[in-house]
Amino acid sequence: MVAGTLIVTNPLVGQSVDSRVVALLNEISVERLATTIDTLAGFGTRHTLSQTDSPTAGIGAARQWIFDRFRSTGPRLQVSFDTYRVAPQGRITREVELRNVVAVLPGRSARRIYVSGHYDTVARPEGSNRFEWENADLPAPGANDDGSGTALVLELARVFGASDVEFDATLVFIAFAGEEEGLIGATLHATRAAEEKVPIDAMFNNDIVGGVIGGDGSADSRSVRVFSEGPADSPSRQLARHIRDVAARYVPGHEVRLVARADRFGRGGDHTAFNQRGYPGVRFTESRENYGRQHTVADTPAGVSAEYLARNARVNAAGIASLALAPASPLVMSDRGRPMLRRGTTGYDATLTWREVPGATAYRIVWRRGWALDWEFERIVPGGTTELTLPSVSIDDYIFGVAAVDQAGLSSLVAAYVNPPRRRVEIQTR
Ligand SMILES: [Zn+2]
Repeated sequence: MVAGTLIVTNPLVGQSVDSRVVALLNEISVERLATTIDTLAGFGTRHTLSQTDSPTAGIGAARQWIFDRFRSTGPRLQVSFDTYRVAPQGRITREVELRNVVAVLPGRSARRIYVSGHYDTVARPEGSNRFEWENADLPAPGANDDGSGTALVLELARVFGASDVEFDATLVFIAFAGEEEGLIGATLHATRAAEEKVPIDAMFNNDIVGGVIGGDGSADSRSVRVFSEGPADSPSRQLARHIRDVAARYVPGHEVRLVARADRFGRGGDHTAFNQRGYPGVRFTESRENYGRQHTVADTPAGVSAEYLARNARVNAAGIASLALAPASPLVMSDRGRPMLRRGTTGYDATLTWREVPGATAYRIVWRRGWALDWEFERIVPGGTTELTLPSVSIDDYIFGVAAVDQAGLSSLVAAYVNPPRRRVEIQTR
């Protein structure tokens, strides 16, 4: 057995909570979320090609209202439209101006944490199974898909933006456009971010997070699913583990159910656009979906529970705040993409090295057996340490990671030593 402390698998035991995070969670308002859902559904449709010249209906009114709501939070939020002109293609049947709505809360460092929902909607004609992508005037209230995610983003922007908590990470609250036509707003934004090498540590995407009763009549108001891309060591999986663990501490009684796949079967969401460009990101979706309401005129506020949505907002807030207050993750991969993990001087030890992180007062070294999904063992070493050898521990049989911990006990995401892909060998024959 490996020398280390066995990690207590019940995260409710022996884990403290941070009073700043608790104070933020207490500000989340069920009533405010309910009112926001009503307002968003009240625009009639938020179809990408719907009208932009009415102050009360269509996507133009909706995006201006979201912009104004961000603005009304106060001077800490930097609010803007992230605007693109999109040519006709696929489900976009005419040239259209597309606007993501963005609110940035600057932190001490440039690293960013995103929380998102998409504010556009679509609905099939009543009684039809077929989409008419050019038909922008059909009623498409989108209360749950994705008024719920948009309301959650607006509520977190209000709570975080109005607080006086200083975060290390810069927070980005974003309502995406053009999701229904193929993740268009998120793809354009993520592409630009990747080109400009914007450091994005985490992306919390919320899409359909307000419904409690599934289309099959089953109900679950006490859990939410979090989907994350593989492999098991990916930063997205590590983000998912973090969310589950902090949820257990800060929102007890509301379970985060991790699903080890990028999204629901055969489907994608705005986080996918970020994942494809190398950014860690997960998707939140309610436990029991009602497919009969989605993309129809029946996706009304009656299908959304503001109490349930508020619990999901608190899970997001706990995950975001605890990461944004904590130090950055240590670098454990070299500039050339090689893991900083060696077999030690004997050839049979595990020697881990990592880069020092400003603000870290300790490092948490974790490891698990190669077939385990969760970290099983840990050791804490003081700040200033950048190397640890575990004698007679096989780097082939175990997976390793390091997190930076600050004075308040807040931990960064674990950075895992990821096995690099092998180069493909081609053999020539005669
Ligand atoms: Zn959606």
